[in-house]
Amino acid sequence: MKALIMGGGMSGLATAINLLDLGIDVSLVEADEIFGGRANSWRDEDGDMVDNALHVFFPYYVNLIQFFKKMGIYDNILWKNTEFYYAQPGGKNAVLKFIDLPAPLHGVYGYMHLLKDYRGIPRWKFLPACVPIGSAFLMSKEKINEYDKVSMASLVYRYGPLDGLKLMEPGVNGLTFTPSYAVSAKVMLNWVLKVMGSAQNARVGFANGGLGEIWVEKCVDYIKNKEGEASLKKEVTAINVEDGKVQNVVVNGEESLEADIYVSAMSPFALRKILPESAYSYEYFRDLWHFEYAPSLSLQIWFDKKLTDVDVTFFANDCIFNTFADLSNVLPHIFKGGSMFEMVLSPADHIRGLPDNVIFEIALEQIKSLFPAAKEASVRKYKVVRERQGVYRPYPGMESRRPFQRSPYDNLYLTGDFTQTSVSSGGMEAAIWTANKTSELIAADKLAKKVSLNVEFEPNEPLLKAMRPLTYGFLGLMSLVLARRIFKKR
Ligand SMILES: Cc1cc2nc3c(=O)[nH]c(=O)nc-3n(C[C@H](O)[C@H](O)[C@H](O)COP(=O)(O)OP(=O)(O)OC[C@H]3O[C@@H](n4cnc5c(N)ncnc54)[C@H](O)[C@@H]3O)c2cc1C
Repeated sequence: MKALIMGGGMSGLATAINLLDLGIDVSLVEADEIFGGRANSWRDEDGDMVDNALHVFFPYYVNLIQFFKKMGIYDNILWKNTEFYYAQPGGKNAVLKFIDLPAPLHGVYGYMHLLKDYRGIPRWKFLPACVPIGSAFLMSKEKINEYDKVSMASLVYRYGPLDGLKLMEPGVNGLTFTPSYAVSAKVMLNWVLKVMGSAQNARVGFANGGLGEIWVEKCVDYIKNKEGEASLKKEVTAINVEDGKVQNVVVNGEESLEADIYVSAMSPFALRKILPESAYSYEYFRDLWHFEYAPSLSLQIWFDKKLTDVDVTFFANDCIFNTFADLSNVLPHIFKGGSMFEMVLSPADHIRGLPDNVIFEIALEQIKSLFPAAKEASVRKYKVVRERQGVYRPYPGMESRRPFQRSPYDNLYLTGDFTQTSVSSGGMEAAIWTANKTSELIAADKLAKKVSLNVEFEPNEPLLKAMRPLTYGFLGLMSLVLARRIFKKR
């Protein structure tokens, strides 16, 4: 039995590996000149490492961790402290610092620590925003799912001033490349539940080297060693369907490839352009047109001097960048000399049309305001990364449009971070989870084998688990006491 995988990003490569392990022959075609998709890096003309963008890992990426361990890649993740710095004008940082207290107490401590120095909003404005965010811990899964119909900002606005979200805005922007007024509240609440699940879950991991360097080659080698095929510069340009089955796909407009099973590991934007017209008689495929692109850019700046010694993630408000790190501190063995800032620029809708030098000048002015040492430093070079960018925009209602991995066509499966999963609205963990799910379905449908590849993340914090019954129990008890008093008076 032969499977053709279309797309060699993280999800496509992981699916190829899973299917080879199931004894299925695999051929993978990738349109780009490198494998790895968006979770990637390369060397520039000077030999300096350019990441597609700053990528961070979290301990709740349980399926990615399992996959990386199997592939011998896991040790390439460098775990840092549970601290997030907010860069503020004049170099006055505020720190969200989680310590090892039982959840959710670690979160209460963390935000109190942050509010000591955070100047973006008056402190009282933050408190009403905590009501809906904190109450996520008391909600059932079904209730959180309902919140896919409203935006994060409208949820918070019900309880207090919109400014209350300012603290969270860089995180929302960095994760979804979308402003909080346009992002599904369900998506953000789910993320809060994971990160706030325990102090350890909020730890951030960085690639110990170029992002692509740490994982791509190992995966491609594994495929080739198992006699799978993986080819670059092969763009699927048409998918031909007859009698409810894919018959073949066309590559680079000329070559026809046939297999028993076809897996699309491409983005929804690429897939919907090459499906046959007849596919759109299915709502399943029509839903692909609901996906909108949330653009991002990445900016790397090499300075000749150190601007900071912080070796974890920074957030910034009111800048064109939201999440960034000084890689000369994160990876001092690689980035020697002055600071090297790697920054995610998102939402990038309003800046992506600007020339590189204008984007750089705006960012540099903002960096000088946040890091006074930058006024004394020279820029050795900078790079605006525009290729392999963006995610889909998780606006309210999008969760229900994400396609299940088994398509209406008997031999076509869809994988990729945009396909249906409860783990997140996208990201590397979603890429691996969906690859595992696709492989589980193929094993069941085509090999009549039941395999379980995915594991579910469980925060396993006793206090957190007890919060819902304790709160409802307490409220129930209070109602009884109140009712007794009222009846006694009568
Ligand atoms: C700026 C930025 C920052 C990010 N930060 C993080 C982070 O911190 N943490 C995190 O977990 N995730 C992060 N992500 C998301 C992460 O990169 C993705 O979730 C992950 O790489 C998705 O993998 P994928 O295989 O689903 O898709 P992709 O990587 O997009 O792979 C799809 C592949 O299909 C190929 N393809 C497309 N069309 C065709 C065709 N016609 N024929 C053949 N091949 C085709 C593409 O070239 C590509 O290689 C970030 C993404 C960006 C852009």
